[in-house]
Amino acid sequence: MELHELSAKETARGVRSKEFSAVEVTEACLARVDRFEGSVNAIITLTAEAALGAAREIDAKVARGEDAGPLAGVPYFAKDNFCTRGVRTTCSSKILEHWSPTYDASAINYMNAAGAVMMGKTNLDEFAMGSSTENSIIGPTRNPRDLNRVPGGSSGGSAAAVAAGYSPLALGTDTGGSVRQPACFCGVQGMKPSYGQVSRYGILAYASSLDQVSPLARTVEDLAISMEVLARPDPNDTTCDAYDRPRFTEALSLPDLAGKRIGVFEGFESSQMDAELYGALQRAAGLCREAGAKVESMDLPIAVKYGVATYYVTALADASSKLACYDGMRYGSHIDGATLNEMYVNTRTACFGEEVRRRIILGTCLLTEGFYQNYYGPALKVRQRMVDEFDELFERFDAYILPTSPSLPYVIGMKETDPNRLYLGDIFTVPISLGGLPGINLSMGLNALGLPLSVQLVGQRYFDAELLGIASVLERVMGKPGVATPGDIQKDRGAK
Ligand code: GLN
Repeated sequence: MELHELSAKETARGVRSKEFSAVEVTEACLARVDRFEGSVNAIITLTAEAALGAAREIDAKVARGEDAGPLAGVPYFAKDNFCTRGVRTTCSSKILEHWSPTYDASAINYMNAAGAVMMGKTNLDEFAMGSSTENSIIGPTRNPRDLNRVPGGSSGGSAAAVAAGYSPLALGTDTGGSVRQPACFCGVQGMKPSYGQVSRYGILAYASSLDQVSPLARTVEDLAISMEVLARPDPNDTTCDAYDRPRFTEALSLPDLAGKRIGVFEGFESSQMDAELYGALQRAAGLCREAGAKVESMDLPIAVKYGVATYYVTALADASSKLACYDGMRYGSHIDGATLNEMYVNTRTACFGEEVRRRIILGTCLLTEGFYQNYYGPALKVRQRMVDEFDELFERFDAYILPTSPSLPYVIGMKETDPNRLYLGDIFTVPISLGGLPGINLSMGLNALGLPLSVQLVGQRYFDAELLGIASVLERVMGKPGVATPGDIQKDRGAK
């Protein structure tokens, strides 16, 4: 195995035991970037020099016999909506094109303190609003498993980086599916933790009641290690819960699924989704049964019928208030006007893209008198009904299997121009976000064209460790996704 193909666990072990150095690993990953970035376009800002400097420090720590941390020398990328001190943080938007934060997000601090090496910032749909990573100031990211196709979004750059072997780990944010869906499209593992597990301090918000920092990797074990590093109380974020987290990696010793009750979501016509993804769902159900679980079909009528509408009302209302701070004065770009109001209008019209403007206007409208009573208020009530629906089902099941996406990655530029139909692609991920539940995209190998198949595993709120345990049992059978060679559709090496 080459250095860029190792998991985070294997990389840290090798660095700590001096089998190879953190500098060698960083150089191997930078060589991958050098070779493929011209066609993949996953990175907004590469911080190669700083990464090599951080890697040298890790090697010096190891040489002195000090503990270099659980992620010693592990390269990682962060989506460009994580604040990084002195490194520009654009959110893929003109409005922040030249903005550099003065502090690091808590998640970045935790990764660096664990010995991980930050390599740079990855592409996203502007302000994390989207599902394809096409709406960006640097243009679309291409899917490393097929360069003609989108990588999913909005954390498409982070998913592409892990799939292409730029790094074994990446950070994204998931508000309504933005880590699970790109993980699905790029054929890697991705986890949205329960809302409240990981600090959002220093994340440029899209919708604060839904956003959650979420890791991407090529193994479930690396997701669990990332959770151990990331999930902890943070006084800087009141929505980050103050309880002691379990040892997420200990859950991976689960030998099989004996005694587990798994619900397989059947609440849709199989014709409403891609046949191969439907097949992957059935296959995962079969594997759970073989591993000893009691498997039964289940439905989520409220979530499926109202999930997308409820999500878009809630998220857009949140977004309109969060994005009010980009006013041309306090942060980022500024375009003059004859009056204060004209300056706001000029700046926000010129510097936000079309989709972001649409969402701010709709969200603002939803919070005005009349619309609030007719849309926003009811959406909050329906959201609670959905939480109740989930809770009732969790009396019967320990976890559910759902699709992550109804479709395989589509060709760049081909997607629906009607936003309403585009939003329907989020049907299986947004209810989980509204419920605050943990969700894992688990890779299920590749189809005959080399495109990734996967399923979504969903657990009870705060049962993230148990969900990782179930995912690891299934991954042992399915195999771990391998590194893609962009441009060349190929079979996954590890997957059976
Ligand atoms: N596709 C969804 C949206 O556009 C989810 C985005 C996200 O999770 N950031 O809102």
